[in-house]
Amino acid sequence: MTAYRPVDPPARVLMGPGPSDVAPSVLRALGAPTVGHLDPMFLQVMDEVRAMLRPVFGTANEMTMPMSGTGSAGMETLFVNLLEPGDKALIGVHGVFGGRMAEVARRCGAEVVTVDAPWGQALDPDDLMKAAKAKGPFKVMALVHAETSTGVLQDLSPMRAIADAAGALLLTDCVTSLAGVPIDLDKHGVDAAYSGTQKCLSCPPGLAPISFSDRAVTTLKTRKHPVQSWYLDLNLIANYWGGARAYHHTAPVNMNYAIHEALRLALDEGLEARFARHARHAAALRAGLQAMGLELPVKASERLDPLTLVAIPEGVDDKRVRGRLMSDYGLEIGGGLGQFAGRAWRIGLMGAASTPRNLTLCLSALSASLQAEGFKPKADPLAAAAEVLAG
Ligand SMILES: *Cc1c(COP(=O)(O)O)cnc(C)c1O
Repeated sequence: MTAYRPVDPPARVLMGPGPSDVAPSVLRALGAPTVGHLDPMFLQVMDEVRAMLRPVFGTANEMTMPMSGTGSAGMETLFVNLLEPGDKALIGVHGVFGGRMAEVARRCGAEVVTVDAPWGQALDPDDLMKAAKAKGPFKVMALVHAETSTGVLQDLSPMRAIADAAGALLLTDCVTSLAGVPIDLDKHGVDAAYSGTQKCLSCPPGLAPISFSDRAVTTLKTRKHPVQSWYLDLNLIANYWGGARAYHHTAPVNMNYAIHEALRLALDEGLEARFARHARHAAALRAGLQAMGLELPVKASERLDPLTLVAIPEGVDDKRVRGRLMSDYGLEIGGGLGQFAGRAWRIGLMGAASTPRNLTLCLSALSASLQAEGFKPKADPLAAAAEVLAG
């Protein structure tokens, strides 16, 4: 018989595209005793999770709660609840996750029109507006706020007017923006949004916070066909998270303790302070990378603070460098996706992992690993980063 040993994970520093380092108190919350999913104590946890999610999303939406599943379950939740077969969807695609949204919408039986942006750039609002006017009306318009595949932040401010021209509900993927950069759903007139727990919330993967405006709820309630997914049907789930508290599925009890603690930490830090921390550390990381002579393919005005895309210099082996960072320093960074596969790295500074210690480790470990490949850094990355941190 095989004798299996208990799982004993090494201590890593997670600076990839997610998961990010989990805060110690969030891990402790996960280990608390499991109670019943209708225990009065747990019902209070659920209410508090909903209440804390609203300011983090920047919304007063009543229908705000975590779905059971990872960020992709949040994506499915929006499309299966808001689309019916034959509906039209306008989807902005500027990376892998926008492409996935289009695929999910197609699988809902929608007629999908995409507007694409070159890899590593934000969507052009003029292109979206042209499609909205020429090819509408649409039931939904969807785009990714923080494209983790390219490190691009999409400005949401022009989007409501475009969605109005399309006659559409406005949907956004906020997986990597939640608790890392301001989202302000209500200010931007977003009708439905989803996120995940393992990026800037620094919680393990497993829940997908979502928020629906009253307008989106009306669309949901006046559907002609039942929601195709029974598990993700918000009409049923809303009755468990609110209203009658009727059993639908067993909520992942301990994951909800964890998100409760992660949200509590975010609000305790203060959202403005948390966003400023992400911005400051991203600026220091970029300064260090550029001091070495590395290139940042995303233009300055479109860069995403929680995730930085950096080009791999000529003659440097992608996998060997990432392997060395992992084996010698316990440091994980992300490889490139799509058109950036083998050509760029993705360095995350998300949530609890966005610290001066981590960015300093990353810059020095990367500098040493690049030198082992024969690359000569132009200047000292740590001095450049320290200068930014000193303000
Ligand atoms: C990570 C991510 C997802 C998918 O979330 P999972 O938790 O991996 O299911 C979706 N969109 C974006 C922008 C992401 O970064």
